[in-house]
Amino acid sequence: MKVLVASNIASEAIEKMRNAGIEVDVKTGISERELESIIEHYDALIVRSTPKVTRRVIERGRRLRIIGRAGVGVDNIDVETATQKGIIVVNAPGGNTVSTAELTLGLLLSVARKIPQADRSVKEGKWERRKFVGIELRGKTIGVIGLGRIGYEVAKRAKAFDMNVIAYDPYISEHKAKEIGVRLVSFDELIRSSDIITVHVPKTKETENLIGEREFEMMRDGVIILNCARGGIIDENALIRALKNGKVSAVGLDVYVNEPPDPNSELFRFDNVVTTPHIGASTREAQTNVGLLIAEDIINLHLGYPVRNAVNLPSMSPEDYEFLMPYLKLAEKMGKIAAAKLEGGFRRVKITYRGKLAERDTSYLSRALLKGLLEYILGQNINLVSSIPIAKERGIEVEESKIEKTDSYESLLEVNVESEGRSIYMAGTSFGRDDYRIIKIDRYRVDFVPEGHYIISLHEDKPGVIGRVGTLFGKNNINIAGMIVGRYGDKPGGIQLMLLLVDDPPTEEVLEEMQKLDGIIDAVYITL
Ligand code: NAD
Repeated sequence: MKVLVASNIASEAIEKMRNAGIEVDVKTGISERELESIIEHYDALIVRSTPKVTRRVIERGRRLRIIGRAGVGVDNIDVETATQKGIIVVNAPGGNTVSTAELTLGLLLSVARKIPQADRSVKEGKWERRKFVGIELRGKTIGVIGLGRIGYEVAKRAKAFDMNVIAYDPYISEHKAKEIGVRLVSFDELIRSSDIITVHVPKTKETENLIGEREFEMMRDGVIILNCARGGIIDENALIRALKNGKVSAVGLDVYVNEPPDPNSELFRFDNVVTTPHIGASTREAQTNVGLLIAEDIINLHLGYPVRNAVNLPSMSPEDYEFLMPYLKLAEKMGKIAAAKLEGGFRRVKITYRGKLAERDTSYLSRALLKGLLEYILGQNINLVSSIPIAKERGIEVEESKIEKTDSYESLLEVNVESEGRSIYMAGTSFGRDDYRIIKIDRYRVDFVPEGHYIISLHEDKPGVIGRVGTLFGKNNINIAGMIVGRYGDKPGGIQLMLLLVDDPPTEEVLEEMQKLDGIIDAVYITL
C-alpha cells in the first residue's frame, strides 16, 4: 500500500504506518492541481482541511481505496463521489474526545470553586478567603445531555468525583449507559433534577435552542450550566435572563452562537460565567491522536480489517469494535462459504443476531457478510462501503433480526442465504478476539475456525467413502491437516457433511475426481 500525506500530520502517525510496512510519501502544501497529477500512484490519501479532494482528484485516483481526513469535518472531500467508487472516507472524530471532556470538568471545577475569580483577586493583591466559598461536586447530580463520545467520558469522570450521573440520549442503548453506572432518564426529568447540566450533543435542527426559557424555568434553583459542545444549543438570551434572575448560579462556556463572540455581550458581565475560546480540542495529545487515528484506519485497511471511523459507513465505538471484530471476520467468511456453495443467483439473506450480539450495533456485520458473498461474483471491487448499495442494486433482499435470548452460546450469528431454489444455513460464535467458529452448517453440527483451504462436501454415510477421499489426496500429494464429519442424527447412514482442511489447494482435476468418487454427492473448494 502506498500513502500520500498531503497535509501536516503528527510524525508518530507517519512512523506508525511505515512500521506496518506501508510506503508513505509526505508532500505537504501541494495544490489541488498537483494532487490531481500524482494521485494515480496512491492507494491512500491523507489531508487536513486542505487540499480539496474533488471529484476530479477521486476519478484520477484509480488506485485509491481510502481517504483520511485528519480532523472531523469532511466538507473538503467529495464524499458522494468517493462512496460511488467504493472509496472509504475516514475522519478522526474521537481524537479530541478526552481533551474536550477534561476541559468540561475543568470548567466545572472552575465555577464550583470560583478558581478564575479567586486567581484574579490574588493577583490584584487581595486576600478574600471568605468571598470564595464554593461547593463540593461529591453527591451532586450531573445531567449529561448527549451520551456520545464526549458525554460518556464526562460521565465517567464525574463518577470519579462521586457524583450522581444521569443522562438523556434517545439514541444510546441502556447497556452502554449501565456500563459506567449512568441512569438514562427523560429530557424533562434531567432538566428538573440536575444540580449541574452539561450538553454534549451535535448542533442540529433538533438540538438548536434545546435549552431555552421553558427548560430554565423547570430547573433547580442555583443550577450550574456547562457548554463545551456547540454555541446555540443553549439559548444565550434565555441563559442571560436565568443568570439575572438567579436561577442559574454559574456557567462554564467554551462555545458561543457567534465565534468569536461580541465582547460587549451581556454574558461577559457576569462574574460567575467562566469562559474559554473554543479550546476543547486544543491539546498536544488531541492533535497527535487525530493523526494516529487516521494512520490506524489506513493500517486496518492494509491488513484487511474493517476501518473504525468511516464517514460513509456507520461509526463504531471502541468497545463495539473490540467485541465485533471476530464477528466481522466470521460474517465475511460465512458470506464466502454461502457464495461457494450456492454459486450466485442470490435472492435473500437473513441474518439473526442472538444473545449479547443483539445488544450491539451490528450494521457492519451485514455489510461484511454481503462483502464475502458478493466478492465471489464481483472480485475485489466490493468493500464494506459498496456492499449494501450493490446488494440492493442486484435485488438481494437483506433481512436482519435481533433476539436477545440464546440457548447455549452467549452470542450467536445465524445466517441463511437463499438463491434460485437452493439455500444454506450457518451459525457461528466467538470466544474472544481471535477465536471465531462456525458451529453449524445446515443441519450438521461442526466446530471449526474458518481459516485456510477447505473442501466442503456431502457424502453418503457408508464404509469406505472417507478412505477413498484420503487415498485420492494422498496420491496427489495434498496433505489433509484436519477433517470434521458432521453427522446428523445418531444412527449411521443418510447424507452427511465432511469438511477437509488441506495444506495446499487442490487442482481442478483433483476436485473433479473427488466429486466423481463413489459416495460423494458434492464437493466445493474454498480459501477462507
Ligand atoms: P458524538 O456523536 O459521539 O455524540 C453525540 C451524542 O448526542 C450521541 O450519542 C447522540 O445520540 C446524542 N444526541 C443526538 N441528538 C440528541 C438529542 N436531540 N438529544 C440527546 N442526545 C442527542 O459526538 P461527540 O464527539 O461526543 O461531540 C459532542 C459535541 O461536542 C458536538 O457538538 C461536537 O461538535 C462538540 N465538540 C466540541 C469540541 C470543542 O472544542 N469544544 C471538540 C470536539 C467536539
